[in-house]
Amino acid sequence: MKNYIYLIVCLILVLGCQNKSSNETITVNEKMLLHHLKVISHDSMQGRFFGTEGNYKTQLFLAKQFDSLGIEPAFPTGSIQNYPFTFTGQSRQDMYPISNPAEDLSNVPDTTVTGGNVVSMIKGKSEKAIVITGHLDHLGIRDGAIFNGADDNATGAAALLSIANYFKNNSPKHTLIFAAVDAEEIGSLGCNYLLNNSPVALENIVLNVNMDMLGHNDSSELYASGLYHYPNLKQPLEDLKSTKINLLYGHDNPNDPDVEDWTFASDHREFHKRKIPFIYFGVADHKDYHKPTDTYEKINKEFYVEAVSLIIEAIREYDSFLVNESKD
Ligand SMILES: [Zn+2]
Repeated sequence: MKNYIYLIVCLILVLGCQNKSSNETITVNEKMLLHHLKVISHDSMQGRFFGTEGNYKTQLFLAKQFDSLGIEPAFPTGSIQNYPFTFTGQSRQDMYPISNPAEDLSNVPDTTVTGGNVVSMIKGKSEKAIVITGHLDHLGIRDGAIFNGADDNATGAAALLSIANYFKNNSPKHTLIFAAVDAEEIGSLGCNYLLNNSPVALENIVLNVNMDMLGHNDSSELYASGLYHYPNLKQPLEDLKSTKINLLYGHDNPNDPDVEDWTFASDHREFHKRKIPFIYFGVADHKDYHKPTDTYEKINKEFYVEAVSLIIEAIREYDSFLVNESKD
């Protein structure tokens, strides 16, 4: 009998703790996150340029990691969503130059390249979905130098895996779609294709959380941009508990000539164009931006881990907030 009472007391304690846990600060598996970042930004990925071997290798790596974390693919055929893109005329010549192009480029042949988004999904209680994006591609190899793109955007692609891992163990109300999209650097081709061939109806997408450059800032400053367009998304950010990150707003006002407007700066633009609200998380440009020196060594590791846990917390807040809002 004594044992029985002891068991009941234990059970009450455990259940009590579980109830409380949804308000607790999030701990990210730092080792796993940094390992993924290191692999994606490694020299062997050759800068991950659209249509190159290093880019395909990155797609396969991400697909395999989602799989081993037990996150379901978003498509019946798997998590990799292939799509063709044809370069013609000047863009073909810029990308794959021939030696004697005619003035009107009539002798430049078209080239079709296969791209690939890596898309996984956690089904929620609701059909309504939050799409979390981070582009997997970068600038490749130029004049013999590898552009590793550790901050841009191995940080965002690696973060997708950690975020998915968190919500696998903490069931969301919304369906969450994790999309490592291709070809952001040449005009968000992958994100555009994803939204034209979406695994869920576009009218069910209530929010895009886009991540592009999360790990390089010496002052621990991270921006959440988009509130100028979607001011009702502010409250959940105000409720965040992370104290180690200096979370700033802005870079979203087209009428402010003094501050660069990031509204169309990354993949969130594809959602915004379709009138789907977005929040974009990213750091300000830095000295290694779009240079071969954007390497794993340059990442502010502690800041990056904190940034990812803050974004998880933000998604958790939006997951509750947007459910309640749609009831109003
Ligand atoms: Zn980027």
